[in-house]
Amino acid sequence: MTDDVTRNENTVEQQINHDTIDWQTNTGGLHIVAKRLTGRFRQWKWLAMLSWLPFFLGPYLRWQDHQAILFDLGQRQFSLFSLTLYPQDLWLLTLTLLFFALLLALITSLLGRVFCGFVCFQTVWTDIYTLIEGKCEGKTPHQAQLFNDGAWTINKLSRKILKHAAWLMIAFLTGVSFTAWFMDAYQLWHHIVQLKIPLPALISIMTVMIGTYIFAGFMREQVCFWLCPYARLQSVMVDRDTLLPHYDQLRGEPRAKLNRNNSSSQQGSCVDCHLCVAVCPTGIDIRQGQQQGCITCGLCIDACDSVMDKTGQETGLIRYASHNEIHQASAKSSWMRPRVLLYASIVLIILTGLIRGLATLSPTEFNVLHQRQPLFVQLSDGSIQNHYTLKIMNKTQQVMQIDLQVSGLEGARLKTPTLITALPSKMTTVNVFVLVPEQYLSAAMLPLTFTGHIRDEDMTDLSYQSVFVGPQ
Ligand code: SF4
Ligand code: SF4
Repeated sequence: MTDDVTRNENTVEQQINHDTIDWQTNTGGLHIVAKRLTGRFRQWKWLAMLSWLPFFLGPYLRWQDHQAILFDLGQRQFSLFSLTLYPQDLWLLTLTLLFFALLLALITSLLGRVFCGFVCFQTVWTDIYTLIEGKCEGKTPHQAQLFNDGAWTINKLSRKILKHAAWLMIAFLTGVSFTAWFMDAYQLWHHIVQLKIPLPALISIMTVMIGTYIFAGFMREQVCFWLCPYARLQSVMVDRDTLLPHYDQLRGEPRAKLNRNNSSSQQGSCVDCHLCVAVCPTGIDIRQGQQQGCITCGLCIDACDSVMDKTGQETGLIRYASHNEIHQASAKSSWMRPRVLLYASIVLIILTGLIRGLATLSPTEFNVLHQRQPLFVQLSDGSIQNHYTLKIMNKTQQVMQIDLQVSGLEGARLKTPTLITALPSKMTTVNVFVLVPEQYLSAAMLPLTFTGHIRDEDMTDLSYQSVFVGPQ
């Protein structure tokens, strides 16, 4: 009986081991020291990293006398060159976020996690952090291990300090750049130099700085594996026609170490050099098939192509190809797929809405509230008076002079001053009274139009349709 149980347990264990033998998930136990090679994907990766330059330089751009792009949370307004957006324009921000989310889905359905591999904050910063680490501690896993396992010497200590100082400096600049989008960038540096940073700015800088230092310096690919929600979602956006880095198993297997004296016609193209694994920033072996950890950076393609060149074989053993292309030699990947067309249509619709919304965004908002207590007052001369509260939102950076008029009701005239001054980026509230002689009131409620003529030829007039209330 005991023997049977032991045999069964062994069988289950063997089965589990067999099932997981190819499972290439680095659960944090590995310290990846990826080899750096040159190649076209490496070059594209450097080029794509430049897309982060606006993040660092954008806040210093000035427009007229203010920061060109500023998310001023304190004033609850967003300046975009000469345009100022307020909480009531939040739908534009929502639409923008939706646009980028759907664009990401579209790109993923075409090219997998190409955003992760080339543009994502986590992979870009990790790439720079590991570059610094390689320069300080050794470029190969062996050199790095020797360095880290070695005794603490002045050389080791100074190299460690140099590495962490460089990491912290990058993290600090990241924190400052992030915060500079939310307050005047030059003023922020002034506060930093004076060591008088406002508390909200200090919290923002420290949070981003610590986050960058930990995520890019220590957690690295583990963020992509375990924390990133996009990594979890992307599998539902790809299909068998999505272009991804694939190892051509039909061509590569059976793999064998290169031995020119003993080359067999049975041998596949893969010379089992492990270079594709050595360069992988997430430490996976693409030869085991596409895996969750692959960020589609293409560095294994560069590595394998260099090996194919050296061994006189055709490049492309690992290449960007669809699952169908790899498994059915005659299949061709097509972007004309329902999933791609659906994502592209939604992206286009949102983009159209966004452009239209921005093009028609009014620099002012005008509202008129009819005061109801009392609904009207009869004056000693017999005329009827109504009380209104006007709200004018001036979204521009200039003072507006507005001439107010009423029309649409015979005999109606404004009792109060008709020139209104609307201050920039402010809501101006004005109480006005309208008088109408009683003989012109043919009904208890009659339409009345308020018109505000802005003394600026480029601006269109304000208009609001209200009512005038009199005795029945
Ligand atoms: S398997 Fe290749 S493409 Fe995927 S993450 Fe590793 S190096 Fe990049
Ligand atoms: S780099 Fe190419 S040849 Fe070398 S192990 Fe990887 S797939 Fe095989």
